[in-house]
Amino acid sequence: VGIGDDCAAIQFPSGHEALITTDFSLEDVHFRRDWQPAASIGHRCLLRGLSDIAAMGGEPVAAFLSLALPRRCNQRWVDEFLDGLLRLAREFGVSLAGGDTAQSPGKILADIVVVGSVPRGKAVLRSGARPGHRIYVSGTLGGGATTLHELSTGRRNSIVPDDLDRYLYPTPRIKVGRALRERHLASSMIDVSDGLSTDLHHICEESGVGAELIGETIPLGGQNKKVSLQSALHGGEDYELLFTAAANKAIPSRISNVPITEIGRIVRGREVSIRLQGKTRKLKPQGWEHFRE
Ligand SMILES: [Mg+2]
Repeated sequence: VGIGDDCAAIQFPSGHEALITTDFSLEDVHFRRDWQPAASIGHRCLLRGLSDIAAMGGEPVAAFLSLALPRRCNQRWVDEFLDGLLRLAREFGVSLAGGDTAQSPGKILADIVVVGSVPRGKAVLRSGARPGHRIYVSGTLGGGATTLHELSTGRRNSIVPDDLDRYLYPTPRIKVGRALRERHLASSMIDVSDGLSTDLHHICEESGVGAELIGETIPLGGQNKKVSLQSALHGGEDYELLFTAAANKAIPSRISNVPITEIGRIVRGREVSIRLQGKTRKLKPQGWEHFRE
């Protein structure tokens, strides 16, 4: 039961449990109306929740949107925002099952709650990485942050259309996450929303391990080779999956047509480092806010 009653009622397949995630999308913090069409802002609002469900190996079921709009925000912007959000919801079989609207005294505030489902006890957690496990990432990194930087510095015309499209309308890696969970391949997993350096630290903290990345193996996104290793390490915005797997697991080079790349290994201790041109240095978590300053 969705919109129209006081609560939504969700039935899960027997033997499944609920996954629940919540994410803010705040104007001028997570998006800028002058850099992105409203449809992209709606798409990315839902994407943030879907990406979290993917990172647990789950299946998204329903979404709840709370939206606060300033009085001067026009109806067309709202319609396009919802179009972008609902198009992505339909693509992944998610129903918008409720929410709330209010008038904001200032900027646009959107909060999305996504509910997913996973077989009981089978969600892939951040805490399963062990020394000797290999580290993998789906897709490529750094493209999102690089495109955002170009948008923010008024160089929209220099962005390759494919790169712009990937930034405005990223695909949540639901199928990849589900395949990794179903085939028992991933020992731990997280989505790269805040940047590889920060998100890898989250896995290491939860698992009580360290990690060593091989700089040369990190797959850089974007056309024209303009993506730097720095933006791949710290940029965020890519919504790919970072996961670990025991050394005896055969990890396919593509899952659901998304390339999968080995980028390092889990080690004893708590230190996270990166080897680059034969030299090893400490890798600090410098994603998201730090990178943006
Ligand atoms: Mg996440």
